[in-house]
Amino acid sequence: MSTVLLVEDERLVADMVRLNLEHAGCTVVHTDSGEVGLTKAVAGGFDVLVLDVMLPGMDGMEVARRYRAGGGATPILMLTARGEVPARVAGLEAGADDYLTKPFAMAELVARVRALARRAPGVSAAGGASPRELRVGAWVISVVTREATRLGAPKVPLTETELALLALLVAHPGEVLARADILESAWGMDRSPTERTVDNYVMRLRRMFEEDVNEPKHFLTLRGVGYRFEP
Ligand code: CA
Repeated sequence: MSTVLLVEDERLVADMVRLNLEHAGCTVVHTDSGEVGLTKAVAGGFDVLVLDVMLPGMDGMEVARRYRAGGGATPILMLTARGEVPARVAGLEAGADDYLTKPFAMAELVARVRALARRAPGVSAAGGASPRELRVGAWVISVVTREATRLGAPKVPLTETELALLALLVAHPGEVLARADILESAWGMDRSPTERTVDNYVMRLRRMFEEDVNEPKHFLTLRGVGYRFEP
């Protein structure tokens, strides 16, 4: 049935939501981090995103806002705390399609997720382009086939890690991202790679998408800090 991304830092709530959605036939991908959630959401492949508002670091509202700003169109269900009326309104403004107030009945959650999953992709309230594609200059990168295409150029296959890094950078246009943050978001909990790994992967992206790797226009280095993506 549907594939659901669940971004929730409270372990008990996350476990219950996952259990109930799986019982309903959904595949659930869970993370407790807003940053990781945004990266996964942008990488695509989900029918519904379930975002908790209160998260350490990037909160659910910010995840929704950045996801929509990047053209993501997958329906979003926001989980808010009891009585957070302003948060609800802000959530809908940030691009959520529906919200549930904690504590909620699990049957209610399953029903809402099902309703959102029935929506055709691209017809969410916020509209926007398909989240299954990323753009770098004239290149279009499919997150489904993991191939980059450009008129008149042969297709370029990307590895899962290259795609995760690209999705992260594309989700933060014009922003400076520190190597450590990139590592944490694009490589998740696996801390074995070093910050040098990030440099190597950015170089790979440059070789794929820059006209001149010595004068990058999309993947810019900020010496001693990190990287900045320009579409
Ligand atoms: Ca929370």
